[in-house]
Amino acid sequence: MQQECIFCKIAAKAIPVNAVYEDEQLIAFADINPVAPVHILVIPKKHIANILETTPDDAALLGHIMITIPQIAASAGLAEDGFRLVVNTKDNGGQTVYHLHYHILGGRFMTWPPG
Ligand code: AMP
Ligand code: ZN
Repeated sequence: MQQECIFCKIAAKAIPVNAVYEDEQLIAFADINPVAPVHILVIPKKHIANILETTPDDAALLGHIMITIPQIAASAGLAEDGFRLVVNTKDNGGQTVYHLHYHILGGRFMTWPPG
C-alpha cells in the first residue's frame, strides 16, 4: 500500500467504500464523479501506478481483472446494451489517479472518437 494513494486507501478500507464487487485481488465501486448513468471503477488491491508499470508477474492478476469485469458489468445491467471499458494512462490518456483502474461506462450510447 502506498500511503498517499487514494485507491490504496479505498482498497484497505481506510476510506469507506460502497463496493459493488470485491474479492481477494480486486474491488469495484461507483466513481465519485460519474460521467455516465453507470460508472464503475475496478481496481487491483495491489498498488500498480498504471498499465505501463505492469510486469509478467502481474499476468494472473490482469487476467483475473479482465475475466471479472464482464461479470461486474453484467451485474450492473450492462450486458444487453453493452458498455465501454477505459484505462486512462498518464497525461495524454487523462490519468489523474496513479493507481491502475478500469472505468466501466454504460447506460447510454458512447460516442467515438473520445474527446
Ligand atoms: P482517471 O482520470 O482515469 O485517473 O480516473 C480517476 C477517477 O477516480 C475519476 O473518474 C474520479 O472521479 C475517480 N475518483 C477519485 N477519487 C474517488 C473516490 N474517492 N471514490 C470514487 N471515485 C473516485
Ligand atoms: Zn495505490
